[in-house]
Amino acid sequence: MTLADTKILSEEIANLKRERNAIILAHNYQLAEVQDIADFVGDSLELSQIAADSSAQVIVFCGVRFMAEVASILCPDKIVLLPSVDSGCLLADMVTTDLLRQKRKENPNASVVCYINSPAEVKAESDICCTSANAVQVIKSLPGNDILFIPDQCLGHYVSTKVDKHIVIWPGYCPPHIQIRPEGILRLKRKYPKAEVIVHPECSPEVIALADKVMGTSGIVNYARRDDISELIVGTEIGIIHRLKKENPGKRFIPASEKAICPDMKLITLEKVFLSLRDLQPQVKVADKIRDKAGVAIDRMLTVPSSDSIRGDMLAGRRQM
Ligand code: SF4
Repeated sequence: MTLADTKILSEEIANLKRERNAIILAHNYQLAEVQDIADFVGDSLELSQIAADSSAQVIVFCGVRFMAEVASILCPDKIVLLPSVDSGCLLADMVTTDLLRQKRKENPNASVVCYINSPAEVKAESDICCTSANAVQVIKSLPGNDILFIPDQCLGHYVSTKVDKHIVIWPGYCPPHIQIRPEGILRLKRKYPKAEVIVHPECSPEVIALADKVMGTSGIVNYARRDDISELIVGTEIGIIHRLKKENPGKRFIPASEKAICPDMKLITLEKVFLSLRDLQPQVKVADKIRDKAGVAIDRMLTVPSSDSIRGDMLAGRRQM
């Protein structure tokens, strides 16, 4: 698409957005062109909270399905659009309600802590949700000693090093984050000796062991804004590099791996955003029964403070247009 085409399409999207009383939310891993036309760019939970607080009636959620589901759970009276119906999450697909019920039987005393990157039906069968920002605090807040952590084994392993509880860890993983390898980090550290290494907790334990900081995407965005930071090796999906560069001109951000690309996040394009707003399709609507139960697990999480300050970052959410 030429620059002129992009400009025309962006204007048409802006017009439609006004007509529909819509808000466009883009995850940090979205294509640059999508981030650039969004009202807010952020992580999945903060975007859902922005959706819930907004007066907009239509939420265009540029992310993946589980994120649009969370938005639907938090704002059931709004229309939630997912511009690419095929945008799933390989990690979320690694847990199902049947497998979870079976595992619960094997661990009858364990509280099920469900990472937000999971299907709504699975959240509905869990005791409490968590994000990468608050997983440690969520687990510490639970009265019992036994935890069943689903579905990400890397985040589960990281959390297990921070709390003194018995944690059974589900074997799921995020394929894009697994592409970040320790040897790649070591090579970049040699090349950029002054750069700090900041990685997402969905990275492998070997990568986390080499990092200076471990944070979710909101934490990374906030950390990059610090005056004393000029160079960062960033270990998460490469879509975040666009936002980091845009917000911090003059600083250097080096992707820990060019292979850390989430194909589902890249399915949404400007054309799909336009069509979605024009046709008010595809919609994501979580069924009432699932919504009520999943909403309890999410609400429990929202009462627990987070280390990356989800709420604070949400309030600092940047308006892009
Ligand atoms: Fe799922 Fe990983 Fe893609 Fe995030 S980056 S949507 S966790 S597959």
